[in-house]
Amino acid sequence: MDKTNIVILGSTGSIGGQALDIVREHPDRFNVVAISCNGSWEVLADQINKFKPSYALICKKEAAENLEERIGETETEIISDSDKLSELASLPEADIILNALVGFSGFEPTIEALKAGKKVALANKESLVVGGALINDLLLEYSGQLLPVDSEHSAIFQCLVGEQEKDIEKLIITASGGPFRTWTREQMSSITVEQALDHPNWSMGAKITIDSATMMNKGLEVIEAHWLFNLPLSKIKAVIHPQSIIHSVVTFVDGSSKAQLGPPTMKVPILYALTYPNRINLEVERLDWDQAINLNFEPVDYEKFPCFKLALEAIKEGGNAPAVLNAANEVAVQRFLNNEISYIQIPTVIEKCLSKIEEPFEKSVPSFKQVDTKTRMLALTI
Ligand code: MG
Repeated sequence: MDKTNIVILGSTGSIGGQALDIVREHPDRFNVVAISCNGSWEVLADQINKFKPSYALICKKEAAENLEERIGETETEIISDSDKLSELASLPEADIILNALVGFSGFEPTIEALKAGKKVALANKESLVVGGALINDLLLEYSGQLLPVDSEHSAIFQCLVGEQEKDIEKLIITASGGPFRTWTREQMSSITVEQALDHPNWSMGAKITIDSATMMNKGLEVIEAHWLFNLPLSKIKAVIHPQSIIHSVVTFVDGSSKAQLGPPTMKVPILYALTYPNRINLEVERLDWDQAINLNFEPVDYEKFPCFKLALEAIKEGGNAPAVLNAANEVAVQRFLNNEISYIQIPTVIEKCLSKIEEPFEKSVPSFKQVDTKTRMLALTI
């Protein structure tokens, strides 16, 4: 069998690292043609030595110098220009692009990969939040394909195999509720960065961990599901499920529901996106059916998680609102991580940006970039 040629954008992050673990488990199935990172040159050097990709891109110039010094003579072409991410996303020899970039930086590579007719294993949900309408146009126009890597969306995708879109009654997206699910609003006013970074079930990068704590992540995921599965918001519901064992549920018009479950690991959705429609062995923990397993569900408390509510309002409003929401959130999360604003100020920054940014809506990359830039500038001043 021919090997699948993979490009991994964001290879030094949590998703990228787990994807490379999969490659290591199945060297006969996968070949890494390109990897990229922002500035983690030591990890990237190690990956270049182990996987010998044709290209390795590092965004930060000073980190690139360290990288080149560390690895010395190599057959890997080192690129230190973040504008070239889109070129890696559309490499002729690539079969599939795993987009594990964080935030808006992943948007253009998704667009370019789809324009080149590539399969995109999408871990960068922000691409769909910002430009879902444009992405769906490109999927119709070119031969590209989008495969979800987000665990909830992979669960839904797996539940939908063999089903028809017209038979879907509802998508139930599960949410762990993060570390503050049982906290009172009063307790939430003094949340520290360390507390917010301590997720009960999932080990992930800083941005998505904070998004999980505010439940903005679930809001972004509802928007992601809306574009990915072409369903109206009225057919998508988020439900708290603290154990993170059921990754999502689809209810059909005959009242039957299908769920996908397993211990929380991103390796399963990553692998499914890489091998779809096939499945191959994976060394991950299985559910232990000799133990009692409790599965609990409860509704989302909108008052406790205003970021979730803001996300739903933004997609209802449509136009540029989701792009504004996303940019404002990225800046607010970074400022919280820098200890510049408090946890409860995150939704305040987003809300103000949503009310103040007014740009004519245009379904184009330059227009989304402009909205993103303007929002970031404003979000830094609130
Ligand atoms: Mg998710």
